[in-house]
Amino acid sequence: MSTSDEALSDPAHGVLPLLPARMLNEFVYCPRLFYLEWVRGHWDENEYTIEGSDIHRRVDTPKGVAPEPDAEVTNVVRGLELASEKLGVLAKLDLVEFFGKRARPVDYKRGRPAPVEGRVWDPERVQLCVQGLLLREAGYEVTEGIIYFAEANERVPVPFTAELETMTRNAILAAREAARASSPPPPLVDSPKCNACVLVSVCLPDEINLLLHRRRARPRTLITRDPPARPLYLLEPGTVLRKEGNHFVVQPRDGTEARIRAIDISHVVAVGPVSLTTPAIHALLAQNVPVVWLSRGGRFIGMATGFPGKNLDLRRRQYGATVAERLEVSRAMVVAKIRNQRTMLRRNSRVGVDAALAALAEAASRARSAPSIETLRGIEGLAARIYFKAFGAMIREDIPLESNDIFAGRNRRPPRDPINAVLSFVYSLLVKDMAIQAFTVGFDPYEGFFHQPRFGRPGLALDMAEEFRPLIGDSVVLTLFNNGELTASDFRRLGIAVVLSEEGRRKTIRAYERRLETEVRHPVFGYRLTYRRLLNLQLRMLGAALLGELDRYVAFETR
Ligand code: SF4
Repeated sequence: MSTSDEALSDPAHGVLPLLPARMLNEFVYCPRLFYLEWVRGHWDENEYTIEGSDIHRRVDTPKGVAPEPDAEVTNVVRGLELASEKLGVLAKLDLVEFFGKRARPVDYKRGRPAPVEGRVWDPERVQLCVQGLLLREAGYEVTEGIIYFAEANERVPVPFTAELETMTRNAILAAREAARASSPPPPLVDSPKCNACVLVSVCLPDEINLLLHRRRARPRTLITRDPPARPLYLLEPGTVLRKEGNHFVVQPRDGTEARIRAIDISHVVAVGPVSLTTPAIHALLAQNVPVVWLSRGGRFIGMATGFPGKNLDLRRRQYGATVAERLEVSRAMVVAKIRNQRTMLRRNSRVGVDAALAALAEAASRARSAPSIETLRGIEGLAARIYFKAFGAMIREDIPLESNDIFAGRNRRPPRDPINAVLSFVYSLLVKDMAIQAFTVGFDPYEGFFHQPRFGRPGLALDMAEEFRPLIGDSVVLTLFNNGELTASDFRRLGIAVVLSEEGRRKTIRAYERRLETEVRHPVFGYRLTYRRLLNLQLRMLGAALLGELDRYVAFETR
């Protein structure tokens, strides 16, 4: 038995599950990618993985039976699953060619042969060699494998040399060792591999390296663009969402129907008295499409999701954050919120608001060194009063609404004027999106740092919404009123409350979604990205800070 075999058969290795050969490919490509994918359970899709999945679908279905090693049979088997406790690995082999005692694994890959000696990159060679080792352990003679490149329709032989075998065994040991670590290896620095990496938006190599001073240059714009899927809002009372074949069908009360493909839906927002059938909910959750329920006024009621990601370390750190850590994160969020409120006032006021600007600057400075969460709450409340007292200065005087009582300072539960009705609704939409993004990243959306997780409030979503309330929420409100998009007919008075009509909610949602599509330049990283992407990026930065990859959370402040 070789040293490698001894190490792999060490009973201590039994603690880890068997390592899939595909993960070994990832490890050789980039140890961090391997860790994020296998240990943390992150996954994403890009053009390469989608194409790769299509190719594998053709050979994934098991077909044929592997002959006994001494049967002297020539045969081809597809989708053969092999595992070895001794090697510590398992694999599903796309195709195996048997010639009597000899066996030859064939692995299907997208694309063309690599422009390197041997015409196959090391990660693919190692993955194939694992398959060879598994076949050998099953009793076959194996001296080479084949990589079949689908685009080129070409078979490239890979000899299982002593050098490749040693590289493979060492990679298995190193990968299993890396999997035991409590944190991932650091990102590669300036690597061209990141350009094609499926987890680049999770890993954030250039962003993290910049903040850790491991690179000086501005980050490349590597994070992926917004996925094409968009939220599906069910607004009209009595609307039913049901599943029909591969589609979802939205059926309002009037009997008309709209068919939507599952891949076009990022999440479903059920507002007020609408319903989803059980098969529709099953299908949505199975495809990791969250469903959020809001009251008619926009209050966040709850959310249903599929299983949370494997990112258990993050949730542990979230629950176990110390008082000092909670205070530090909260300070960053509140300072950014106040500074963003100040920027909004500075940019949009029609009249002089110098006193408010000075008071907000003072509040931000005090928030930066607040000694406790309670003090911070007081400062945040004071800043909100200053800001909303001056808020009217950002609204057109000749606003096309009949009532003179357009805005009487911030009020809620219930909102008592049109602007407060829209502010409350838009803030709920923002918290809804933060809750979904928090879940996607691996957080518990309910466990906050600044907001207590009480009374069913999604504390973390509320926390993370703070720095974006002025930039997204208030900006939408100003656009809707100052451009005359909302008129008197979009509101109804119910007792002391003012509520948006159904059409008013529609207009508000459209404006809100437009705002999420708006691009903004990131003040630290320098590239442009949509607000929708930014919400996700900030949560990932918070995750990196909590998991110790960054020394602090950097909240988003616009200039
Ligand atoms: S983005 Fe780069 S550093 Fe990060 S996991 Fe991918 S290859 Fe590795």
